Amino acid sequence: MPREKRFLVADHLGGLAKWLRLLGYDAAMYPRAGFHRLVARAMREKRIYLTRNAQEAADKRSFPRRLITADHPTEQLGELRDLLSLDPQRLFCRCNRCNTPLRELPAERAAQLAPPYIVATHKHIHYCPDCGRLYWPGTHEKAIRRTLQKIFCPASSA
Ligand SMILES: [Zn+2]
Repeated sequence: MPREKRFLVADHLGGLAKWLRLLGYDAAMYPRAGFHRLVARAMREKRIYLTRNAQEAADKRSFPRRLITADHPTEQLGELRDLLSLDPQRLFCRCNRCNTPLRELPAERAAQLAPPYIVATHKHIHYCPDCGRLYWPGTHEKAIRRTLQKIFCPASSA
């Protein structure tokens, strides 16, 4: 099995980082860390550095990186298609705000924390152990799945 790809995303690609996390990929960001520290981290943590900055992408040091050229986050995701796979099992398993893997919220905690109509209509509610945000399948999810389908399986969704 090839090692699961991990990413380090430059500050200016926050939208792309969210999409990578929705797909289930570990996409770290270290806001305001500065380019040199990011390179050191990418090397140490074996992450692929993603940037729109051509100068950064041409840096002489040897670290995995990819220059992103598209403006829109979903087009940017499309530029990485060769590195990624769409695995329905892994969708929505990470907090898209802070990159932390989600955990399932036990029913009794869900009753305390989530709105009653959500608890009544959703069997599984997840939460981010880091920022506390709650996640459940909603109307967004269908739109996200459709967008991903278009990027990764264009023939089947035409
Ligand atoms: Zn979080």
